Amino acid sequence: MRGTITEEQGEIHVAQGKVIGGGSSINGQAMQRGFPQDFDSWAALGNDQWSYEKIVPFFRKSERDLDIHDNYCHGSDGPMPIRRRQTGPLPAIQQAFHRACLDAGFGTTNDKNGLNPGGLGITPSNNIDGVRVSTAMAYLNPVRHYLNLTVRGGVFVRKILIKDHKAIGVEAESGGQAFQIEAGRVVLSSGAIRSPQLLMLSGIGPADHLRQFGIPVVRDLPGVGSNLMNHLSAQLTFKVKDGVSLETHRDAAHFALHYTAPGSSYVNDMVLRSSTVVDERTEHVPGVRTKYLTGDVPPERAARISCTLGLPDGTGWVRLASADPGVQPKFNYCYLQHPNDIRRVREGLRMAARLLESEAYRDVAEFRIQPDDDVLADDHALDLWIRQTVGTARHVSGTCKMGTADDPMAVVD
Ligand SMILES: Cc1cc2nc3c(=O)[nH]c(=O)nc-3n(C[C@H](O)[C@H](O)[C@H](O)COP(=O)(O)OP(=O)(O)OC[C@H]3O[C@@H](n4cnc5c(N)ncnc54)[C@H](O)[C@@H]3O)c2cc1C
Repeated sequence: MRGTITEEQGEIHVAQGKVIGGGSSINGQAMQRGFPQDFDSWAALGNDQWSYEKIVPFFRKSERDLDIHDNYCHGSDGPMPIRRRQTGPLPAIQQAFHRACLDAGFGTTNDKNGLNPGGLGITPSNNIDGVRVSTAMAYLNPVRHYLNLTVRGGVFVRKILIKDHKAIGVEAESGGQAFQIEAGRVVLSSGAIRSPQLLMLSGIGPADHLRQFGIPVVRDLPGVGSNLMNHLSAQLTFKVKDGVSLETHRDAAHFALHYTAPGSSYVNDMVLRSSTVVDERTEHVPGVRTKYLTGDVPPERAARISCTLGLPDGTGWVRLASADPGVQPKFNYCYLQHPNDIRRVREGLRMAARLLESEAYRDVAEFRIQPDDDVLADDHALDLWIRQTVGTARHVSGTCKMGTADDPMAVVD
């Protein structure tokens, strides 16, 4: 799909998993849960089934943690295997990042999905021995032989059929033909961009917006498609010293540092990670290389420290571009428009630069590629550079917000 992340960059390509298993079939396989306080903050807003205490039994039920066994946070016989082991040598850039964070005084955690996940720790993953275990593999494969289960591929849902304010089925396209399928129960789970699109195509959404496209209004719900959130990723790149290997063993551990931004009202709202620059992003998207690299540094000799805003204050939107279901909706993440968001990312990148300059990186990093010293030192220049280069972590959420009956922006209860 194509969507806008910042006005400076305009529309960019945004990957989504149009496949069985959805995003889990193409994603980064970081099996990082929300933190306990995230769930508790949802419960405090009135979503009383979503406290960590209420949600943790479902995490236990879903996972088979291969490393950590306890009776509260972790399950050992669920369908989704999780590991954080390091069987090969720790990559040099991970070693340097790890040491630099410790030297800077950050604490550690041995369980990023535990009760105290803040600080530096290894990111849990659902990649086992080099094999991605998608939700399709974990949940669908074991029951594919059931005679009371049918999964249809290549079927495109065009709208939800609604009668007397109740969903009674869907209109779907298969092999170029349209079908109406009735059902006793309809579960809408087409992701944070397509779910609000389908609701709006079905007459559920902001009434004025639906009328613009000639869609009869079934229910005026202004929250449909609002409140779009997505983690951003701002990246500091550096040249890796010649002779230092950037090869990673398939079981190599990746560290993440969750920390609280100075002056933040949130806890653990920021994340720093280190990785190589050559990945799916630079390999397949023309022009991206120049965004993060300058000069003659070949991408395969560069690495990065990325800074992610975990709990943004700003939100974006999803809106219809057409009443035709085949036309993708418009969306804009509206990254970094909130002053508290740009401030935290600016400070995060400066902290990443300090880590890079520390003793821990002496044998690994030759020089910082981007942002350069002049940009890094100047708030305005750095803010502009961030807006021009920031990428997306592709973790879309929020567009069908949960809430209580008195929340006008709530979409589901
Ligand atoms: C490149 C990438 C990297 C990511 N990395 C990570 C990571 O490392 N860790 C992590 O936790 N998360 C990661 N994510 C995010 C994570 O994958 C998503 O948050 C998650 O998959 C969302 O699940 P979902 O069920 O809401 O939607 P989706 O996974 O998007 O599933 C929606 C499904 O609905 C189908 N669909 C949509 N519209 C229609 C229609 N009209 N008719 C029929 N079918 C339809 C789609 O084909 C898809 O199969 C990443 C995502 C991407 C894209």
